[in-house]
Amino acid sequence: MSTPLPSQPIREDMQVHSTFSDGADPIEANVRAAEAMGLTRMTCMDHVRIGTDWLPAYVAEVQRMRERTQVELICGIEAKLLDTTGRLDMPADDEIPDGVQVVYAADHQVAMDGGVRHPDAVRAALEAGELTAAEVFSALITSTRECLDSPRDIVIAHFFSILPKLGLDEAGAPLDEIDALAAECARTGQRIEVNERYRSPSARTLRPFVQRDIPLLVSTDSHRAGTIGRYDHCLTVLRELSVDA
Ligand SMILES: [Zn+2]
Repeated sequence: MSTPLPSQPIREDMQVHSTFSDGADPIEANVRAAEAMGLTRMTCMDHVRIGTDWLPAYVAEVQRMRERTQVELICGIEAKLLDTTGRLDMPADDEIPDGVQVVYAADHQVAMDGGVRHPDAVRAALEAGELTAAEVFSALITSTRECLDSPRDIVIAHFFSILPKLGLDEAGAPLDEIDALAAECARTGQRIEVNERYRSPSARTLRPFVQRDIPLLVSTDSHRAGTIGRYDHCLTVLRELSVDA
């Protein structure tokens, strides 16, 4: 099996936030930090919602920095999943400039049939027996799976990062449904990231993706320049996966 694992030390950081959304540092400072860490690739990433209006300025700033660095810069946006049809909280297609290259689909809340629910409400419903763990895992996996069949490049962002807020353990996630998600990822040519900030997903969750040769993107999900390109969880997971390979 050919493994899609990046070379070590990791020379990429595929999710770095800036002051365009909730990052502490501007894109320029992030790029300088990436250079200092010897990175060759970095994905600029900021959170959008349906009414976000700063995308033209954001794309222009990434382009301006491309002319000022050797680091390959990718321009991405992150949007939360809204329901089990895989709808994403982002501007309409004709409001997204061409320079946006990739969309990260994120489980910031629980995307269920009919809409999102706050993690606290889902946790309470689980404790009250109104929802089962199986139903919640299914909603998380289904919403993610359904967003993949898109003309846009999609990356599954920090998959299962919400589980601790729900009181659920990733080790209990249904492997058959994860496998179906990986199959859809392979069919649609989409990708998944390993995320340092949330320390997710685990090697167990990623194994079906690796078995299908789906490229794993490695990211710190940095919200300040000082953490760009610094890995611990990701190295452990990649090591576990390469031992299998
Ligand atoms: Zn996120």
